[in-house]
Amino acid sequence: WSAETIAVVTGANRGIGFEITHQLALQGITVILTSREVAVGEESAKVLQEGGLDVGFHQLDIVDDESIKSFCDWVKEKYGGIDILINNAGVNHNIGSDNSVEAAETIINTNYYGTKKMIKAAIPLMRPSAQGARIVTVSSRLGRLNGKRNRISDDGLRNQLEDVDNLSEELIDATMTKFLEQVKDGTWTSGGWPQTNTDYSLSKLAVNAFTRVMAKKLSTRSESEKIYINCYCPGMVKTAMTGWAGQVTPEEGADTAIWLSLLPDQAVNGKFFAERLITRQ
Ligand code: NDP
Repeated sequence: WSAETIAVVTGANRGIGFEITHQLALQGITVILTSREVAVGEESAKVLQEGGLDVGFHQLDIVDDESIKSFCDWVKEKYGGIDILINNAGVNHNIGSDNSVEAAETIINTNYYGTKKMIKAAIPLMRPSAQGARIVTVSSRLGRLNGKRNRISDDGLRNQLEDVDNLSEELIDATMTKFLEQVKDGTWTSGGWPQTNTDYSLSKLAVNAFTRVMAKKLSTRSESEKIYINCYCPGMVKTAMTGWAGQVTPEEGADTAIWLSLLPDQAVNGKFFAERLITRQ
């Protein structure tokens, strides 16, 4: 890894994304800090640039197709491609609120569909390298399929979502569509969905499942064109998302993302990590 290495971090103007940007840049990598708000993102990038770090900025809203396209065009033109993509952008409106239709739609649309769109748009730009290009998504233990308390109660659906040989993007999308329909008609509470932070937990469950689907697809690439995709839980981190209530600092929350991005000879693919360890989903 060197200054020629290009890393992109989504939702990097604050919280864990800002720290991931900071720590990757400290490794001597060129990092593009992206943010949906230009002024806020430029300000955050300036803090790191003033510390002597090689950090660029570009606007990027992961739910906006136009924004994704203009970002990808820019990065290709200016840098030629991407070596490391960190999908960090996310929202959680469940804290202190009920599962309104609007909250559910925003959370699923951002955390799952936005992340998926970004990954699909970035893959053609990812550059082959000796270490393999890397995609790391910041997910959550709340999205585990087999968590004891907070899980989908339908064993059949859980098994289907876990069975990577038969898992498909269509099944994940259909699961999200079914949930959102139940939120709209008011039947979601008896739908057997995770009981805690339901919209958010499902959005991260979908991201974890999509990671498995993509890993399988990407594993068919030749050795010289490998892309490794994994996701992880940063723990309960003191950021705006938790009302600064977590036990983990943003620096600590960034650690597994940096480790997965830089791991030499990484062959691990499609896994869910916590504190650098592969963890059952
Ligand atoms: P913050 O709320 O501090 O940061 C979230 C970031 O995502 C902000 O920069 C926000 O931008 C950005 N964002 C939201 N929507 C979009 C969008 N459509 N396009 C681009 N950027 C967007 O939270 P954290 O730093 O805690 O969260 C970072 C990630 O970590 C999230 O994916 C979260 O789900 C995950 N996570 C966090 C945990 C925690 O305990 N904090 C635990 C487990 C996972 P803006 O400033 O414009 O709102």
